[in-house]
Order: sequence, then C-alpha cells, then structure tokens
Amino acid sequence: MASTITTIIEKYKKDTTRLMDILIDIQEQEGYISKQTIKEISVALEISTVDVQQTISFYHFFNTKAPGKFNIYLNNSVVANMMGRKDVANAFEDAAGCKFDSATKDGLIGLYNTACIGMSDQEPSAIINGKIFTNLTPFRAKEIINDIKAGKSLKELQVEGNGDGKNGSELINSMVCNNIRKKGPILAENYNPYNIIKNILPQHTPEEVIEQVKASNIRGRGGAGFPTGLKWEFCRKAKGDIKYIFCNADEGEPGTFKDRVILTERPRLLIEGMIIAAFAIGASEGVLYVRHEYKYLQKHFESYLDEARNKNLLGKNIADIKGFNFDIRIQFGAGAYVCGEESALIESAEGKRGEPRDRPPFPVEKGYLDKPTVVNNVETLCSIVKILTFGTDLYKTYGTSESSGTKVLSISGDCKYPGIYEVEWGFNVYNILEMVGSDIKNIQAVQVGGPSGTLLAPNEFRRILGYEDLSTGGSLIIFNKERDILNDVVLNFMNFFIDESCGSCSTCRIMPVVLRDKVQKIANGHGVIKDVDDLLEWSKVLKASRCGLGQTAANPIVSSVKNFRYLYESKVQMDKDYDTGFNIANAVEDYIQASGRNASLN
Ligand code: SF4
Repeated sequence: MASTITTIIEKYKKDTTRLMDILIDIQEQEGYISKQTIKEISVALEISTVDVQQTISFYHFFNTKAPGKFNIYLNNSVVANMMGRKDVANAFEDAAGCKFDSATKDGLIGLYNTACIGMSDQEPSAIINGKIFTNLTPFRAKEIINDIKAGKSLKELQVEGNGDGKNGSELINSMVCNNIRKKGPILAENYNPYNIIKNILPQHTPEEVIEQVKASNIRGRGGAGFPTGLKWEFCRKAKGDIKYIFCNADEGEPGTFKDRVILTERPRLLIEGMIIAAFAIGASEGVLYVRHEYKYLQKHFESYLDEARNKNLLGKNIADIKGFNFDIRIQFGAGAYVCGEESALIESAEGKRGEPRDRPPFPVEKGYLDKPTVVNNVETLCSIVKILTFGTDLYKTYGTSESSGTKVLSISGDCKYPGIYEVEWGFNVYNILEMVGSDIKNIQAVQVGGPSGTLLAPNEFRRILGYEDLSTGGSLIIFNKERDILNDVVLNFMNFFIDESCGSCSTCRIMPVVLRDKVQKIANGHGVIKDVDDLLEWSKVLKASRCGLGQTAANPIVSSVKNFRYLYESKVQMDKDYDTGFNIANAVEDYIQASGRNASLN
C-alpha cells in the first residue's frame, strides 16, 4: 500500500510547482515534515533536498520537528496586546507548564507566538490545530489547557458554531464573528448572483468588459491603487497562450480582516468577479491565494466552487460561451506577510520561497509560470461584479473624483464597535471615529493602512480616505491616550517588519533592526536628540529596497516622529550630545542565562 506521503505527491501529479500544497497536506497528515519526508519528497519530485528545505524554512507554519499534539498559536499583534494578550499568554504558560515557543515535555501542548491572524475585531485570539479561538481571557486559556490535559478533543475544546452568519454553518463551524457594521454597495446583497456571467457576458466582447471597468475608474483595493481596467488591458494584450487570474486573499497587514468576512459571507460575489476577470483577460485558470490563517474556511469556499461547477459557471464553455473554459483552485499560503506582494505571491504559488521578484517584467507580461497574470485584490474583484450590475455611472457617484466607489474598512482598537465598515472614499477619520463609537476626546492616534501606513495625530483627523490623501488597503487601528505609542505601537510594528522581511535586500534585512534598536534606546531613556534626527535620516536608506515591505518598513518611525516628536523628545537626554546606550548588564544577560553563572557587574 502506498504511504501517505506518496499518495499526497501522486495527488499533485509529482508537480514541483505544487510543493506548497504537498507540504501543507503532509503536515496536516503527519503533524510535521521530517528529514526522512524531505528526502522522500526530493526523490519523488526529482529536486534537491535543499530545494524542499528552502521552501519549508521560509514559512512560519511549517514544522520540521514534531510539535505538540495541540499547538496554540497566540497572536502577538498590537491589537491583541491592547486587548489583554499578555495575561492570556501568562495563563497559557502557567497552566501548560511551558514557555512560548516550546512544547511541554510530554509533547501534549505547544505554545507559539504568531503575527496578526486576521481577528483584530475579536482579540486576543489564537489558532489551535487550525481552529480559531477568539476573545480569549485568562480564565478561558486555563480552561482550554485543563481540557486538553483531561483528554478532550479539539472539537470538545471549542465553543461550537456560535459565530454569526455562515461562521455557524456545518462547513465552517467556527466561533468567529463577522462584525459587519456597515454595508455599502459592495457588501449589500442587492444583486442576483452570477447574473453577469449568465446574461451579460454572452452579449459582450472581453474588450467591451475592459472598457466598462476602465470607465468606472476603479483602482486596486490592495493599497497600491493601480487602475484595474488598465491592468486587465495590459494582460489581455500580452503575448501568451495561457493566462492566469490570481485573487490575492493573503491579507496579512496587522489590523486587516475584511477579506475574511468577504470569503465567509460573499463567496459567490468573489467567484463571479474572478470569472469576469478571466473572461476579460482570456485566462483559463484562476488561483485564489488565501492566507494560511483562514484555512478553516477551505471546505466552505470549496463548496461554492463546486456549486459553480455544477451550474456550468466554472469548467468548459461557461454559460454556453463557446471556448470560455476556466476553473479556480485555492492555494493556501503557510504564513509569510511578504506574500501579499503580487510577485512574491506568485513565487509562493509556484512552490517556492515567497521572495518578491525584480520588476520589470511585471506579472501582466510574465507572471505565474512565466505566463501573463493579473493579480487582483478580493475587494477589487467583488466591486467589478457590482459595477457591471449597476453601471459605471452609478458607481462613480460614490466617492470622490479621484477615488470612485467605496472602501471596505477593517477597524479595531479603542472603539466600541470594531468590525467591517463599507464607506465611500472621502470619509474623513473624524467621521469614522464617530461611526465606530470612539471617545474622540480620548483618542491619541489612528493608524491608517496598517504598520506600513500613517500614524495620525488628532490634528490630522480631518484628512480623508482616498488615493488623493490617505490611500489605504483598509486597516484602521485606534489608540486612546493610555497607549504607549513608542513601546506598544512603534516597537511592535518594527518587530513585525523585522520578522517578516524575506532577507533578500541588505537594506531591509539590516536597517529595520538598527532603527528598532535606536527607538528602543530612546524608549529606555538613553537617547539624545541626534538619535531622533538619525531615525529620520537613516530611514531614507530603506527606499532602495526591492519591494514595498522594505520601502515602507520605517514608516512607523517616520510618521510617529513627524506627528509625535514630543514623545521622543520627552525621553531623550537634553543635556547630553552623545550616549552609546550600551548597558553592560543587558549585554551579558544572554551569557548569564546560558552559563548559569552570575557575577556582580558593579
Ligand atoms: Fe525581501 Fe525586504 Fe527586499 Fe522586499 S524589501 S524583497 S521583503 S528583503
């Protein structure tokens, strides 16, 4: 009988470009990917063990050693910390009897830190063996550990099916809540699913569809804001026998969770958007790249793909349009924020490390498997369906002249009603704070666009969301006056970028660490005024980085120095020109820990 590993490799037809799927499936079956397994994969795929190892080592969620039987990945994002993550982490450690990033001696429980898991509206949250546990408290953490020790199953640990909407369905069965607080034209269910495919596409040419998308002025909703119609046109005109449409559902920016809700509640809208894009650019295959943290949605989303196949909306001669053959597969990531960058996402879908490519060539010319590829954001593709349903003129009545339409926002932090809000572009931050029930007088700052975005002070709350002012992928995190901007926000964001850098560029590999250490030095009271100026000057070096991650990695510092310079200056030593910040006790701390020796440093 074939081994599990052989069966999985055969399932993917020994295709090296499906290495991610092979590794994900093996880990799901075996718990981890052993040295022996790596050898077996390399032999079967006829690639070196190094090729297999380099992919494994790139992603947070692949294990090469046996982890615990129950593995608890607790989110350490800024919002999780604000909502009491530290007490929950302590409770897990006390009850389990092991520290984070280790497993108990009997191998029953593993505790691990992880970056934002897309649950900022219900923190602190954790992933336990693929299931999401939200709104954790120290009591609940102890209860979970005690239940594990008492021999309860994963199913018995979770509070079953009490999430709202489709989260409670049999195929998701999750305690996650959607928290949809405000619907606009994109989130509203005021349309007839697949009507565009069945009744509109057969009457139009791909070029006519592209013209309508161009006329709507819609720009990519991922943050970069490239005009969608133009992107489609470039790909349509690119030379290539095969073309691909990718949907980027790898939202990993801390504070972002809107794609989670769309994947849960509007799967038909997204599938229809991908089919329309395929028709327009001439794609025969679609790949929905979903972040690993949303794997709990797999069966749910696949059921909607099956439904579309059964209705001849995916497959051959779709909607009786002769020669329109197209299908969609789901590609899961394995935990790497940089894969949200379109060329890194393509590398990952090809089974490799998710390292961004040099550009040009752009993916529309040479993308997935070197073929012309369009990568669109979830929200962009959903918007297209509504644009074609209700017309470009109506769509353009929403928003501003430069930013037409609406934006789905993920809002979290210090507010009464964290969740998903669809608003017109042009909303100002002040409007939003009122809408989400924040105590405006007590708000110190708002982070717009995740760590790579802008940290606004109250004097900028009249600024508007839109490509002409605050361009954003949709994350807003609100901080009240009790939050420590330097320690809790800036350092958390810098550590996030340091962890998530792919390491290709020396600037991005080194400078965030140097800058983070300088902020830490200032926060510790060892800084001088020149350190603050150095932060701004040295940040410029990062602009030479290859991709957006590195280019924006200093933004938490640059925008906090710009808007909250007084916080930095309140901590520096004004009477000194120079301080190394060197502290011998801290410098030898690791040595003391490792050697078990303690020596007086006085
Ligand atoms: Fe990798 Fe950073 Fe360079 Fe981007 S900027 S390619 S994340 S090292």
